[in-house]
Amino acid sequence: PKKTDQFNESKESLTVDKSGLLQKLQSLQIKPSCSFVVIGHVDAGKSTLMGRLLLETGSLSPKTVSKFERESAKAGKSSFWLAWALDATKEERERGVTVDISEAHFETDLASFTVLDAPGHKDYVPNMISGVSQADIALLVVDSDINAFESGFTLDGQTKEHAILARSLGMDHIIVAVNKMDTQGWNEERYLEIKSLLGDFLRKKVGFSKIEFVPTSGIQGTNVAHPISPDITEANWYSGPTLVETLENSVKSESETDNTFRFMVSNAYVEPFQSTLTVTGRCISGVAEAGDSVYCIGITQRLEIKQVANKEFVCAGEQAELILIVDEQVKNDNAIKPGSILSAANDLPLVKTFEAKIRLFDLNRPIIPGAKLGFHMGRVDKTVKVLKILELLDAKNAADSKSRKIRHLGRGAAARVELELDTAEILTPPAVCKVLSRFVLRLDGETIGGGVVC
Ligand code: GDP
Repeated sequence: PKKTDQFNESKESLTVDKSGLLQKLQSLQIKPSCSFVVIGHVDAGKSTLMGRLLLETGSLSPKTVSKFERESAKAGKSSFWLAWALDATKEERERGVTVDISEAHFETDLASFTVLDAPGHKDYVPNMISGVSQADIALLVVDSDINAFESGFTLDGQTKEHAILARSLGMDHIIVAVNKMDTQGWNEERYLEIKSLLGDFLRKKVGFSKIEFVPTSGIQGTNVAHPISPDITEANWYSGPTLVETLENSVKSESETDNTFRFMVSNAYVEPFQSTLTVTGRCISGVAEAGDSVYCIGITQRLEIKQVANKEFVCAGEQAELILIVDEQVKNDNAIKPGSILSAANDLPLVKTFEAKIRLFDLNRPIIPGAKLGFHMGRVDKTVKVLKILELLDAKNAADSKSRKIRHLGRGAAARVELELDTAEILTPPAVCKVLSRFVLRLDGETIGGGVVC
């Protein structure tokens, strides 16, 4: 078809897809879903808290639980079994489907969740970025124990770095679990002190607009999925939501955003002598089932989903294998490859030069116009050239009114810049698709910053 025809068709399909989607969600009785990335300092209790969430929401079978209790007791680390349980589910999920970050799933009566795991160790910052770039919200776990809290909160601490990174990639909603409250005898003052210190920092310095605090004890399961028992008299002062309720409340606001089906391909396999192509990957948004059609850049016609392997449908946050009906031409062109996006609407632009807001971290030498950086986004690895530095940004990613003509960007700088990719890529502003708006910058093999398309 001519370009104009294609555009008209895509507009039409957009409306059809969206109204169809609502009906489909209802008929399939799909709960709203939300993905969150767990960030924070190593040893803050992230794995234990997530193990507890899985356990109390019924995502771990009693058999699995007793197996891990036995094994961790044998290994002399009886408190570790919850963390092990999380790792076990992760492995389970990873078998068969390729993933680039660890994840687990759980459901409550109201919503379904994907937990994206980001190791807290310094060496794992790139994994953390990968997790952040795919998540709707960030769950920051901090250890309420005085020394531990402060060490995660010093200038070069992981807590700060993770929070700034999450914000730089366009995330504006953060939930803070003030964890290990049992070590503080559920001291209200300690909780309020952390809430005030960290709240100030996250709001004023980092620029999060939505920040919620929840006191928890992952190891004892207090205020995780169930309200605090009246027996814990020292915690009587708290009457707010549990961690699960806080997560559920945030799903409502997050799931209203983008409902168009989008799927990021991690692998594509040609089936010899068949008119199908099998792809694995992650559903970024929306929902799809057999019979639905999708667009992919580089292919003019729509492609039909013949089957969603092993399930009835795939929805946002899930890994899946799709079998697509394709013709010989599509197979021969290798148009569908790792990094390709399948989309229910034909509205994704291929972009080479674009504006973005970036924030830089560790840098040995300043970045000047003309500099070439590694550009990493989901499964895409490219080179990007800094064309212009347009303006400096303050900690909240707003234009810094004090800034004058800028010649270079140093450590910690944030700026609106014009960038040029070596080859065009699918990029959108966050309002179209959050996941396709966030990227990471690297130099000499090190992650030096992150950004979001304007
Ligand atoms: P991660 O590195 O953030 O994933 O932390 P882990 O979940 O591995 O926990 C680190 C250590 O803190 C382990 O020894 C846990 O048993 C302990 N821990 C985790 N959560 C709690 C908690 O709520 N209270 C107490 N007292 N200890 C905890």
